[in-house]
Amino acid sequence: MYNKMTLNDVNLGGKRVLCRVDFNVPIADGQVSDDSRIVAALKTVQHILQQGGKLILASHLGRPKGKVDAKYTLAPVARRLGELLGREVPLTPDCIGPEAQKMVDALKNGDVLLLENVRFHPEEELNDPAFSRELAKLADAYVNDAFGTAHRAHASTEGVAHLLNPAVAGFLMEDEIRYLGQALTEPAHPFVAILGGAKAKDKIPVIHNLIKKVDTLLIGGGMAYTFLKAEGLEVGRSLVQEDQLELARDLLAESRAQNVTVLLPEDHLTGSDPESSEAHAYDNSAFPQDEMGLDIGPKTVKRYAEVIAKAQTVVWNGPMGVFENATFAEGTFAIAKALADSGAVTIIGGGDSMAAVKRSGLEDRMTHISTGGGASLEFLEGKKLPGIQALNDKM
Ligand code: ADP
Ligand code: MG
Repeated sequence: MYNKMTLNDVNLGGKRVLCRVDFNVPIADGQVSDDSRIVAALKTVQHILQQGGKLILASHLGRPKGKVDAKYTLAPVARRLGELLGREVPLTPDCIGPEAQKMVDALKNGDVLLLENVRFHPEEELNDPAFSRELAKLADAYVNDAFGTAHRAHASTEGVAHLLNPAVAGFLMEDEIRYLGQALTEPAHPFVAILGGAKAKDKIPVIHNLIKKVDTLLIGGGMAYTFLKAEGLEVGRSLVQEDQLELARDLLAESRAQNVTVLLPEDHLTGSDPESSEAHAYDNSAFPQDEMGLDIGPKTVKRYAEVIAKAQTVVWNGPMGVFENATFAEGTFAIAKALADSGAVTIIGGGDSMAAVKRSGLEDRMTHISTGGGASLEFLEGKKLPGIQALNDKM
């Protein structure tokens, strides 16, 4: 699906390397409060430094809306990266312009600096060609390791990639392309997709693409209620997207026509609201009118776990219930456990799904947890991601 050059295909020694990373980390009281994204980029960073590249890191942080805003400075990130690397990481006052140029010119082989937030310029998100040229002027080569923004054609993720050669994938990006790509192009069968989460509307395009490839589709989470209602079942006060009923019905028919087994929940944990600390288990046939379905029930867990146990490839996007509330987290954690025990290639996509798997404590037992929320969904929808497209093809 993608056959892109990576860090392993090039030697960046002596080159000025512009590397787009995802340092969009949470900041609290001027400090990085969760450095996992910085830690995740270290493999790429250290590889380029060890090769003797002059490393110019670029990232966005938050949504400064194209204006300089001290709240979104990358200064805390430069400090934290400096601690992790055991050396000072200078931050340019602006990501383009004479001062950045001067600091880049002063880099020696194996040195690193960080450019200030690229989103301080409106031209970044507009993918402005002149702004891309300004960024490109700083460097000889380009590396993209920011999968989380690869679905956006911005100057630092797409525009600049066309102006520098080589333009290759970093190690994190390479993993994402490999695991998500393999699942879509050459999955080992049985291939099971599990779709859940809040809204049917967000997930229907993903299901559309996956039913061409999977053997079994397991549906859970809030979106299951749109599908159950589309099948004519009573779902009480559960989350239902009325405007998606028709599409849901079509999708179920299409799946069955393609010989994909589609399973919907047969029982539920219900409550008065998502914050409730009391759960009641009901089968589909007895769904209480005045309650909401907030997790899949024990019979559904058992059935889904049996299917997962036989799978060779599993793609999972979207929690099975309101896992943020311990009362309705059991279904999601049980599915995570089934994946961990399956021996299959297991791939998790989606921001909340990642959080749920982390909370289950089974993170290390998954084959691949995608770092890109929106990007992984668009990948699974079968869309071409501009930030990946723009990189050099392997010879
Ligand atoms: P991801 O970020 O992994 O793509 P989504 O954003 O689609 O996942 O969905 C995650 C959200 O879905 C969670 O906040 C969870 O509370 C919610 N959710 C799951 N099941 C239900 C349900 N039965 N009713 C309402 N919300 C639900
Ligand atoms: Mg989400």
